[in-house]
Amino acid sequence: MIARILVDVPAKAVDRLFDYTVPPVLASVLEIGMRVVVPFGNRQLMGYTLELAETSDTGKELKNISSILDIEPYLTPELIDLAKQISMDTTTVLIRVLETILPSAFKAVYTVKLRLIDPEGLSGSLRALFKDSDEILYDTSTAEIIPELKKAIKNNKIKQIYELKSKSRPQVERTVLLIDSGYLPKTEKHKTVIEYLKKQEGFYAKVSTVLSECAVTESVLKTLEKNAVIRSFYQEKYRPVVLNHDEFDKRVVLNPEQQTAFSDILKSLGRPETFLLHGVTGSGKTEIYLAAIEEVIKSGKEVIFLVPEIALTPMMVHRFEARFKNQVAVLHSKLSIGEKYDEWRRIIRKEVKIVIGARSAVFAPFTNLGMIVIDECHEATYKQDDMPKYYAVDVAIERCKHFGIPLLMGSATPNIETYARYKRGYIKLLELPNRANHAEMPDVEVVDMKAEFKKSNLGSISELLKSEIQLRLDKHEQTILLLNRRGYSTLVICRDCGNVIRCPNCDISLAYHEMDHSLKCHYCGHKEEIKKTCSKCGSENLRYLGTGTQKIEAEIEALFPSAKIIRMDNDSTRTKNAHETLLDEFCASGDILLGTQMIAKGLDFPRVTLVGIIQADSNLFNADFRAPEKTFQLITQVSGRAGRGELKGKVVVQAYNTEHYAIKFAVDHDYLGFYQYEMGIRKLAKYVPFYFLVEIKISGLNVRDVFLTGKEIVASLRRSLSAEAIVLGPVLPPVGRINNRYLCQILIKYRKEPNLDEQLFDIMDQFASNEIYVNIDKSPM
Ligand code: ADP
Ligand code: ZN
Ligand code: ZN
Repeated sequence: MIARILVDVPAKAVDRLFDYTVPPVLASVLEIGMRVVVPFGNRQLMGYTLELAETSDTGKELKNISSILDIEPYLTPELIDLAKQISMDTTTVLIRVLETILPSAFKAVYTVKLRLIDPEGLSGSLRALFKDSDEILYDTSTAEIIPELKKAIKNNKIKQIYELKSKSRPQVERTVLLIDSGYLPKTEKHKTVIEYLKKQEGFYAKVSTVLSECAVTESVLKTLEKNAVIRSFYQEKYRPVVLNHDEFDKRVVLNPEQQTAFSDILKSLGRPETFLLHGVTGSGKTEIYLAAIEEVIKSGKEVIFLVPEIALTPMMVHRFEARFKNQVAVLHSKLSIGEKYDEWRRIIRKEVKIVIGARSAVFAPFTNLGMIVIDECHEATYKQDDMPKYYAVDVAIERCKHFGIPLLMGSATPNIETYARYKRGYIKLLELPNRANHAEMPDVEVVDMKAEFKKSNLGSISELLKSEIQLRLDKHEQTILLLNRRGYSTLVICRDCGNVIRCPNCDISLAYHEMDHSLKCHYCGHKEEIKKTCSKCGSENLRYLGTGTQKIEAEIEALFPSAKIIRMDNDSTRTKNAHETLLDEFCASGDILLGTQMIAKGLDFPRVTLVGIIQADSNLFNADFRAPEKTFQLITQVSGRAGRGELKGKVVVQAYNTEHYAIKFAVDHDYLGFYQYEMGIRKLAKYVPFYFLVEIKISGLNVRDVFLTGKEIVASLRRSLSAEAIVLGPVLPPVGRINNRYLCQILIKYRKEPNLDEQLFDIMDQFASNEIYVNIDKSPM
């Protein structure tokens, strides 16, 4: 038998399958999707078995597979095909895609050992290495001896040994697998063991169990292993993830609108239909997901449920756990590597029916999928920023097509592209225009901060917002304040010379962090002590500009000294359960929840009756064609947090550009109006959904090389693409240097380029190198 193996080396040159023979003892065990160790050059490498065949047509003599790492495959044939598709779509080598699909526990790491073969003629420094033992661990820090070492290895004086080890240190237990079930046992004890293993699912069992159940000794197993009847290996134990199963399952009777949407979904089960569930926040979308998922599970099939970020949606997860108990696996980004691995195995073994998780859960290795659900489908977190730059929504569409099943996407503020796909007839629209519990939509009031400034209110909180907060404090109701800033940082500027303290590695100013009085770079992590004087002119007149959450917190503390304020931002939520703890605290006894974008999502507090947006327009003028859309979505989403219960809500939107269409449509709760206006602009400016975009980023240590490469790529693209395609750039992005690497950017706008994938792979081949990184994104966000 021949196995076609993809080796674990992320390089274009080996981005293909290599043929190996499978030794007879392994032939009955090896399956597509298992990891193996194979000789490759002079090394032993980890690889993935992607195909099996009877014969090879390479015409060369083949090497044997050395060993098999898994006892069950962790990749299904469908996932392998999907990976190949993503590799093409994202211009990424296949091994990188597989690494992304599999939990990181599967990534192999190697230790290199050196064995002394012949000390004759070795230099003193090399001999010194082996003074205690003939076999030592290679220490990569001893760079100066590398040239000598290389020579000694070449002359067979020293041998290199590669050892594979798993990254996470799993708990292991020794296990035996029956590999020859036709073996005729020679003794009664052998027979007992074989019969016992035959009865086990998968023909394997823990050694300790076999010994006690069959009342045999280790030596019996040894003999059987010697005769190739069984094989022993170490298998990892599960580390169970503790879930909260005592959650109360509140069941509701679907209202007529929900019922209509629900029955439309039911009719499509077993067909590859895509639904957009467009419902205002609080309209009962989650209840529809729960009902539909329940039906799919009843039919014996499986469901993937995607959320933007698990840590931000604890309430959603609890509702699922309450309803589906231990049929749910949660793929949490803050799970340890080992925990993620265990969840993956529970899925493979069909111990769960539903997977809830963020972006990467779209790869859950189900083989009998019945539906995929994507909540808050407009969120940018469904796009991966690193290679492979896949978009989970596209991956979900692909998988639903494969299984012939519906995809259900829900949002109060669908992306323009998604809504346009409905308008063009590609997806079905389900609408929930009203809140489920008949709670009214909140009143929205806009405050012009320019006028506020003229009234000499120099703070960040307008007079209106101040009095509304006070009203809530008096009535023991709650307030959510959102600071709309991506950088959420305060920069330090010298009032005398205008010098802004910058990161030494990046073209960006450092942000001041009050917690430890330090200056930090959000791009590269550089951190320095705050200085008393300007580094340029020595002046002591340093000023803190911009508004960070910490600064606003100080401001509202001063305004409302008796209020209990909970701040949620990147700083306060670093640790594993910080989100939940802070939210619980707010729910129980908080007055004001102050936070960044992260508080806009999925929160449902009945006592919140006021939402204030501090700087609604602060991202409107970013160099991003989606800026108005993002602003519209943000205002709509946070507004949805107000007045979810019995009490009517109010929203105060503070902005400088109060006349901007994104703000006006959001204030009027007018999605369709916004959609039509925005489509007009997209058409004029030749953006999605009228044109497709490709973004190419080039980076390197030398700014001139980066730009020259950019120019050559543009020239090459202009030659190979059709005349209709528009190639823009190379230009400097807003932050032109990150971690000492200079960047430039190219944008392609096109309608139809049938050979684009190959052309982009060619660009990578031709221009990417160790010095110059080329990064291609086919659906930039
Ligand atoms: P969404 O997901 O659209 O924001 P949810 O499903 O969370 O909306 O529903 C909002 C609130 O309304 C929840 O507290 C939910 O329990 C309640 N709710 C939803 N549907 C119904 C219904 N049919 N009858 C009563 N309450 C409902
Ligand atoms: Zn100065
Ligand atoms: Zn930096």
